[in-house]
This record gives sequence, C-alpha cells and structure tokens, in this order.
Amino acid sequence: MATTTKTSSAKKPAAETAKTTTKAPAKTASKTPAPAATKAPAKSKAAAGSVDLSTKPTGKTGKMEDSEFHEFFVDELKDIYWAEKHLAKALPKFKKAATSPELAAAFEKHTEETKRHIETLDKVFELLEEKAQAKKCDAMEGLLEEADSIIEDTDSGTLVRDAGLILAAQKVEHYEIATYGTLRVFAENMGHTEVVELLSQTLEEEKATDVALTQIAEGFVNQQAASE
Ligand code: FE
Ligand code: FE
Repeated sequence: MATTTKTSSAKKPAAETAKTTTKAPAKTASKTPAPAATKAPAKSKAAAGSVDLSTKPTGKTGKMEDSEFHEFFVDELKDIYWAEKHLAKALPKFKKAATSPELAAAFEKHTEETKRHIETLDKVFELLEEKAQAKKCDAMEGLLEEADSIIEDTDSGTLVRDAGLILAAQKVEHYEIATYGTLRVFAENMGHTEVVELLSQTLEEEKATDVALTQIAEGFVNQQAASE
C-alpha cells in the first residue's frame, strides 16, 4: 500500500516538473526532468542499492529478478493469485444465494472470467519465470467472510439479499481493480510489456463487472429492496 502511494504520488511531481520546465529556459529543462524521472521508480526501494531499478531492462522479461522491487511485485502477484482462486470458489455461492436471475447470471459470468484471471496469472508467472504460487490474501479472506455474513443476515428470496450481495461483490471488484491497477504500473516500470498487456485485460474485466453490478443495483434491486 505504502509503495503504491509513493509510486503514484512520486509520478505526479515528475510530470509536473517536466511540464513547467518545458516553458522554462532550455538550461533548466534539460537538467530538472532527468533526475526527477530517475528518482520516481527508484524511490520505492531507494535503499535496495539496485541501480537497475531506474533503467528499462532489456530482453523479454528484463533482468530485475534480484531486485527487491521485483520480489515485492511477485509477492503481490501471489497474493492476488490466492485471492482469485478463493473468489472462483466463492462466486458460485453468491450465485446460489442471489434472488434475481439477473444477479445470478452476473455472478455466473464473472465466475468464468475469474477462472480466466487465474490462467492469466499463470501466464504472468511463466513470463516472469517465477513459480505460480498462491500466498494468503488477508484482504480477500476478509471480504469473503463479510459476504458470508451478508448471506447469513439476509433472507433468501429477497431483494435486500441481492442488494447486500452486490455490496459485497463490489467491494471485491474494487479491491481487484486497485490491485491490478497498481501491478500493471509496476510491470510498466519494470518494462514487462507482455505482463502489462495481460494484467490490463484482467483489469478491464474487473471494471466491467463493477459497472454491470451497479447497473443491476440501480436498475431494480435497490428500489425493490426499499419497498420490501
Ligand atoms: Fe478477477
Ligand atoms: Fe473480479
């Protein structure tokens, strides 16, 4: 989390500096952006002493395997790998618990997509020449526990149940969106072009799922839940 904030916030000033300095005299323009740009990616692991962090690696996957940033990246991939695997098991339960056929269909669709997200991560690990390994994701575990509580606390056959399921599922999707959004940027920073492409595809499906859930909620679920 801390790294995410650093990376994104570190980027802004760099871009702003670049903009400002274009207008400024040529002397400053050539000096300022260079160190700013080098600092941004290196900042997250400044103490790592790995000079390569600031340079785009060459070759298929790059040569950053020894850097702490690479290790952190792979660790986070293992975390979302665990999350996706557990979500794939939980979504059929969501589907079964849903009242409206629309919501059940959305969960069924996303179960298939989630299985693909797992396969996509398999490919990512392969491209990075890393072992595909799941590492317990506390966040997803908590979100799925919360979903279980919502199912327990609402009556089956009600639209309140669906409203609750949508709430739980959107929390999951937002978690995934945040994760894939950040991991994609990490992959970009490291020059893993193919990985960027794969993570982007998954990210788009997570975003589309979130939108679809909002449409179901706003379409009829919330209104009918309010009149139950
Ligand atoms: Fe997913
Ligand atoms: Fe998802």
